[in-house]
Amino acid sequence: MADGCACDRHAHMYLTVSEALTRGLAVADPVTGTETLPLIDAIGRVLAEDCTSKVDMPTFDNSAMDGYAVRTADLGDGPMFNLPVAGRVAAGDSGAHDAPAGSALRIFTGAPVPADFDAVLMQEDCDATADGIRFDRRPKPGQHIRRAGEDLKAGTPILRRGCEITAREAAALASAGYGEVKVSRKIKVTIFSTGSELRQPGEALGPGQIYNSNRYMLRALLDKPWIELTDRGPVEDNPDRLEKVLREACDTSDLIVTTGGVSVGDEDHMPRLFAEIGGQPDVMKVAMKPGKPIMFGRRGNGLYVGLPGNPVSAYVTWQIIGSHMMARRAGLHHAPHTPEQAVLAEPLERRAGRQEYRPVVIEGTSPDGTPRLRLMAPSYSGRVALLAQADGLAIIPAETETLPQGHGLQFLRF
Ligand code: AMP
Ligand code: MG
Repeated sequence: MADGCACDRHAHMYLTVSEALTRGLAVADPVTGTETLPLIDAIGRVLAEDCTSKVDMPTFDNSAMDGYAVRTADLGDGPMFNLPVAGRVAAGDSGAHDAPAGSALRIFTGAPVPADFDAVLMQEDCDATADGIRFDRRPKPGQHIRRAGEDLKAGTPILRRGCEITAREAAALASAGYGEVKVSRKIKVTIFSTGSELRQPGEALGPGQIYNSNRYMLRALLDKPWIELTDRGPVEDNPDRLEKVLREACDTSDLIVTTGGVSVGDEDHMPRLFAEIGGQPDVMKVAMKPGKPIMFGRRGNGLYVGLPGNPVSAYVTWQIIGSHMMARRAGLHHAPHTPEQAVLAEPLERRAGRQEYRPVVIEGTSPDGTPRLRLMAPSYSGRVALLAQADGLAIIPAETETLPQGHGLQFLRF
């Protein structure tokens, strides 16, 4: 309810999204430990060293085609060229041969081109003869040969520290000769959901009870190879119990993420409890919609992020602020997601004041290829299921009141 009017009128008392993010990132310093792992075990982890290629790429002169290697100096005047085929080199062969002058070698893609051969003919450009090949176009020296080091030389930078080792990075590291690689240690993350009303899906609901969605949302969001996760499940709104779980989590984790209990109600214990156990809570009201207070703070090594209980608010505040803090803590140098440019498929009208994250459905593309966005319900904070039907969140700047159809805006693709 306060979600609507009060906030908008008092938007000046609120932090902007970028101010809140700056404050969050300031306390989210990267963990320092690293470990060296075999490349196969480093997949999905955060690279902790700048990497240069250990080898020239390609590492040796090799054929770009299936065909025949020739020495251009051996060729006569044409117009027809006839050469016997004196041997065969395939990928993985050493390239040693005893082909006499004036002969060709059968060669396949990726096979080493022997040093005295200087061109490769595509097999499509040759006719087979009784003992060799015939062709009518003089090959140019160097044709269809990939030269050692032409893609990059040993010592050339290939990856910077702070990237996630996904498929492309893993392939790059393998091709550059990295049998093992230095990665940031996994960050230890503890989660729990606060709320005496929470039940597990599958259980029967008693009066006043609801299913715990945040736990499953966080489990999915934090399912990363660079996270060692502890899930403390739901914790009822009992200060002693909450304090115990929070203290243990802070003692043992690099990051603690909870949902609920950060507002101003009597059962919203988290900021006070965090202060009581020696943390420094920063409860931020952020001029964003949806969004409720989000809190964070440090206690020793533990970085605590307290998300609102409302599942939509929890999801959006996590994506917009929390996930960036976590990425930084894990040693990642890239933001977890960056907005894309899109255009509105319909006009927009709303009340200015808070930066809004509105679920959208992509409805085709405009002529230049930009996605066209159809806006979903403006007030969806009670309906987390709606997020599952959306393709992303449109980012509507705080000051925006109306936008015509076709107007550009940014959006975060799911
Ligand atoms: P709170 O921030 O604790 O005041 O919670 C705000 C609203 O979100 C309340 O309606 C809660 O019942 C609901 N809520 C809190 N935690 C969860 C959860 N884990 N899953 C689903 N709804 C929740
Ligand atoms: Mg609660």
